[in-house]
Amino acid sequence: MTLPDKFLERVETERLSNIGGSNPLSISFEFFPPTTEKMASKLWDTVERLGPLSPSFVSVTYGAGGSTRERTHGLVSRIRKETDLEPAAHLTCVGASKSEIEEVAQQYWESGVKHIVALRGDPPEGQDGFVAHPDGFKGSVELIEHLKKMHDFEISVGCYPEIHPDAASSLADIDYLKRKMDAGADRAITQFFFDPDTYLRFIDRAQAQGVDIPIIPGILPVTSYSKLRQFSGQCGTQIPSWLTHLFEGLDDDPATRNLVAAMVASEQCRQLQRAGVKDFHFYTLNRADLVYAICHTMGVRPNR
Ligand code: FAD
Repeated sequence: MTLPDKFLERVETERLSNIGGSNPLSISFEFFPPTTEKMASKLWDTVERLGPLSPSFVSVTYGAGGSTRERTHGLVSRIRKETDLEPAAHLTCVGASKSEIEEVAQQYWESGVKHIVALRGDPPEGQDGFVAHPDGFKGSVELIEHLKKMHDFEISVGCYPEIHPDAASSLADIDYLKRKMDAGADRAITQFFFDPDTYLRFIDRAQAQGVDIPIIPGILPVTSYSKLRQFSGQCGTQIPSWLTHLFEGLDDDPATRNLVAAMVASEQCRQLQRAGVKDFHFYTLNRADLVYAICHTMGVRPNR
């Protein structure tokens, strides 16, 4: 074995033996509230499968346009009551007055849910651009300020390595992220991206502009390439040509698609880990298989 090979082997061994180390890997998972009994039972299987990987928290989304208020609340409460996982509830400013949002946040606090993913949110389908409710919050900064005044919530926020479509520039986008931090955000979670360098350059720019909270990469295993294209168009994430090439011809071949998806996300995480990243947030889409496999390749093992 040559010296560089030995070096690489050591780097890989260190990468895979992160659990229980002095600075262990931290993972978190995002779920969305199910709409049917069947989806609910599948989601619960997912929670039970991923739970033993000891995520630092699991977050539950709030439907676009504020459409899942009760279901988000129901799922977050169930996770709180029936598991030892730490739930975080997404909350957006869309379609609700300040007092309605305050009521939801108060219920969370009283039921022991003290971590909120505070977002401006996207407009409901058919509406161009975000329009604040007449009695509502104008954006995420106001929402964070209000939540922090209510209670000492732990606050996560969204951020955008490839720039949010509403931002005037990268500088302005990061400036807004800094405002969210100054309002009380404890961490930011990125929109999904595929090129690790995109994330690493974003971290450099954000730190240069004074953002010093953790910025956690949001990892999306690609389960449907056609849905990915649609969603990337809306949120401004670039799909690299190599990714398109990898999924070519697999529309009707879910088994191969899954293997490719696990490989792509594992490689993305491997590169980030080797660049020193220790925190990862997974967009699970309520599926356990891919995320479980990816975490396994990162050295994460169940605790029971
Ligand atoms: P903000 O950061 O508040 O605003 C978006 C951008 O617009 C800013 O980065 C800034 O560049 C610009 N901007 C906004 N206001 C101003 C201003 N006053 N001055 C200057 N610039 C401004 N959507 C849901 O509906 N439900 C969810 O559960 C959900 N979960 C998400 C989780 C994560 C981790 C992420 C990254 C996104 C999530 N989204 C969710 C999508 C999110 O709602 C959209 O991306 C939305 O368009 C922006 O929300 P935000 O809180 O990040 O916006």
